[in-house]
Amino acid sequence: MPPYDQPALDTSPKVSDEIRKTTCYMCACRCGINVHMQDGKVKYIEGNRDHPVNQGVLCAKGSAGIMQHYAPSRLKAPMKRVGERGEGKFEEISWDEAFDIAAGWLKPIRETNPEKLAFFTGRDQSQSLTSWWAQAFGTPNYAAHGGFCSVNMAAAGIYTMGGAFWEFGQPDWDRTKLFMIFGVAEDHDSNPIKIGIGKVKANGGKIIGVNPIRSGYNAVADEWVGITPGTDGLFILSMIRELLRAGKVDLDYLRRYTNAPFLVNEGDGPDKGLFLRDADGKELVLDRETGKPVAFDTPGVKADLAGSYRHAGATHRPVFQLLAEKYMTDDYAPENVAEETGVPADQIRRIAAELAHTAFEEEIVIERPWTDWKGEKHDRMIGRPVSFHSMRGVSAHSNGFQTCRALHVLQILLGSVEVPGGFRFKPPYPKPVKAHPKPHFKVTPGAPLDGPHLGYVTGPEDLCLKEDGSAARIDKAFTWENPMSAHGLMHMVISNAYAGDPYKIDVLFMYMANMAWNSSMNTTEVMKMLTDKDASGEYVIPKIIYSDAYSSEMVAFADLILPDTTYLERHDCISLLDRPICEAEAAADSIRWPVVEPDRDVRGFQSALIQLGAKLGLPGMVNEDGSAKYEDYADYIQNHERRPGVGPLAGFRGKDGKGNGRGEPNPNQIQAYIDNGGFWISHIPESAQYFKPWNAEYQDWAVERGIYDAPQPYVFQLYVEPLAKFQAAADGHGDIQPPEHLRAQVKATMDPLPIWYAPFEGTLVDTAEYPYHALTQRPMAMYHSWGTQNAWLRQIHGANPLFVSGDICDGNGIETGDWVKVTSVHGEITVPAVRQDSLNAKTMWTWNAIGKRKGAWALDEDASETKKGFLLNHLIHELLPAKGDGLRWANSDPITGQAAWFDLRVKIEKVDNPSGVSHPQFPAQTSPVGQGPANIAYGKEFK
Ligand code: SF4
Repeated sequence: MPPYDQPALDTSPKVSDEIRKTTCYMCACRCGINVHMQDGKVKYIEGNRDHPVNQGVLCAKGSAGIMQHYAPSRLKAPMKRVGERGEGKFEEISWDEAFDIAAGWLKPIRETNPEKLAFFTGRDQSQSLTSWWAQAFGTPNYAAHGGFCSVNMAAAGIYTMGGAFWEFGQPDWDRTKLFMIFGVAEDHDSNPIKIGIGKVKANGGKIIGVNPIRSGYNAVADEWVGITPGTDGLFILSMIRELLRAGKVDLDYLRRYTNAPFLVNEGDGPDKGLFLRDADGKELVLDRETGKPVAFDTPGVKADLAGSYRHAGATHRPVFQLLAEKYMTDDYAPENVAEETGVPADQIRRIAAELAHTAFEEEIVIERPWTDWKGEKHDRMIGRPVSFHSMRGVSAHSNGFQTCRALHVLQILLGSVEVPGGFRFKPPYPKPVKAHPKPHFKVTPGAPLDGPHLGYVTGPEDLCLKEDGSAARIDKAFTWENPMSAHGLMHMVISNAYAGDPYKIDVLFMYMANMAWNSSMNTTEVMKMLTDKDASGEYVIPKIIYSDAYSSEMVAFADLILPDTTYLERHDCISLLDRPICEAEAAADSIRWPVVEPDRDVRGFQSALIQLGAKLGLPGMVNEDGSAKYEDYADYIQNHERRPGVGPLAGFRGKDGKGNGRGEPNPNQIQAYIDNGGFWISHIPESAQYFKPWNAEYQDWAVERGIYDAPQPYVFQLYVEPLAKFQAAADGHGDIQPPEHLRAQVKATMDPLPIWYAPFEGTLVDTAEYPYHALTQRPMAMYHSWGTQNAWLRQIHGANPLFVSGDICDGNGIETGDWVKVTSVHGEITVPAVRQDSLNAKTMWTWNAIGKRKGAWALDEDASETKKGFLLNHLIHELLPAKGDGLRWANSDPITGQAAWFDLRVKIEKVDNPSGVSHPQFPAQTSPVGQGPANIAYGKEFK
């Protein structure tokens, strides 16, 4: 072949003179990145091939981090408000003045009534620090954003099996043959899922996507189930029925590793619904050989999954028998759920059969001996190569907790958790309820709270109620309205504080949460609550401190701004005490460090928090002489010990830097991480890599690494007894009972076996008038509002149309390019429409958080995000429509309090909109950072 005449191309130009390895923060996925530097400036970002999370893969957001770092919207210095709230008029001040103002507000309330501070943080990854700070301050009012994100998924997972998805666990990507995803947007566990999907496909496996919308992962799935929003639980329970009827459940697994054989009291007394226990408090099962009850963990016991036992006048039957009777009814027959779910009966049946076939006919065996916690030796590891992943799509509903529970029960019935080919926990999970704290709320002026704020309740006695039965927390977490609100209810803080219900607060302190815009339901009303004044002319919410790196919409509503750094300018630890980066086969954590120093008068929020804590004299943050114990966050990361030998970072501990998990503080620890590429990893021995909750070797390994202080084997909870305790209280048993108006709700929803009930909003509105569902998703290219100011990413999503199903378009005469008015019982929006046929017939949706308020984010006031972009939030209220009982009920899951974003019901009509601008619109905020240039040309300004 003759040589082609090709131009000489330099395919590998030198792009940098130094590479600095840190952790991406363009979303919460925590990939490792190599930041290429040239002349001291960030020039280029690539994935770190050695990193356990992304193995070199970088997404569009990650590579565009450079434009996030140089964004014109970066705040420049601390500021105090000089105009009216909401206007955006500020004066820059020094850090000393900022701390003086903050301490002047906070010190008096700490000494008199610490609950007057509400401290809530958004999507940060430093909750082990922020919760410790809030505990030292002494306020009960602390949580992060989980309550409006995916607490249903997290809580259902912990209560059922000691962990859920994403940072809790992952599919056994190399071995799984059938992978099902439920309600997963592309931002969740982003790069690992992309890598995993690639592996499943390369191995010839099948992927089934369950989602009303066929985009992203669902678009590359082999089969799409276009389910109707809020009905996933019904679909799952129908598949469970089919598996039970076919006898395709793993009975040996259920007997050994779950509470399927536990005996449940079916009497009507105070122990109704509770397990039968022996004198030592151990749950009892029926021994098949003797027919007698014995402790569940008796070595060698063959427990019966059926039968009954009379004791103290009550019949007791095994959990499995109750479960089988509950689900094998016609209520869950595929034909009877097809219309509600939008999934044809034969598709439900076929998928159930495929799950069964893959789990039981394509069983995997690894010849690897292991020993369980009872000392029983197993020659091999038997695997069921079916795995699942799920996130907010199923959890952000008022029936989300029970739906997530149903999904975990399905996994467990198939025997596909912690086995080869199935779902595997990542350290520090598995971690059962008993290994988590319970919520604490006892306030003592001038002293710390009596324990951690958040945790897992196991009965009415653990609720956060004052003596008069009123809520102890401003967000009313852990009350009868939502007893298991393990992550708090950030979405209720502003409206409760505004209403003074359960009490008034004095200072609202928030971090990285755009509550005046895309992070709130009912955005218009929230802006009003933040700016309203009382009869004396004072703001109803008296003082607001806010920290953000950028000029977000929320900035204009604060009185004092503590400017954060960008993620390339800060120290951070992605800690085993928080949301680490572990893999199923290894414990791992990582750091961020200032690969560039800030060129503005800004500080990492965590450093500012530590410095403010020292100024307030908070315990743990000052030395005996009152001086600051930690200079900044880096100092805290290296030197703070949560327990002796256990600190924020697990790697390179001890004076010699060789400690893994445990060891004294190491003054060179951060440098050791930098030298190691920004992360630390410790692999689990092969024979301890599966069956972790029951594997004696894994339990010992976890103790060595400081993950547990003692082995804590446990069994999975198909039947969640704490739920039965709440139901018993609603039935009139015990000293602590729900108020009358909540009795029926507690009884109906807190079923110890998963149930499905219709999402609340749909039962309260006239569905003939509001027949459709409206949803949001986050795109792969953006993470919340962070990305929509990014000069590169704006070119991908500069505005967001409303995607409308083909059926709805045909029924309402709508075509792509039309403007439509979408109305809920709470409000209306006018927005541009696009037809989408790969969409559930009753559904419309849009990308989340693209719409911007004029003046925010240093964008041009005529930017496409402000003119055509829009929020669905204007249609959603934190309270449900009135029922006629004189009460307004929360638009939340009644068990966990999770915001029910996706219960929204709407109607739609085509309208003329000659303005070409989406509605509603709001007056422009004054930008405290000015406006960015018309063209941000990378390589010119930033070289
Ligand atoms: S998925 Fe993308 S944005 Fe998220 S951490 Fe990884 S590289 Fe960064």
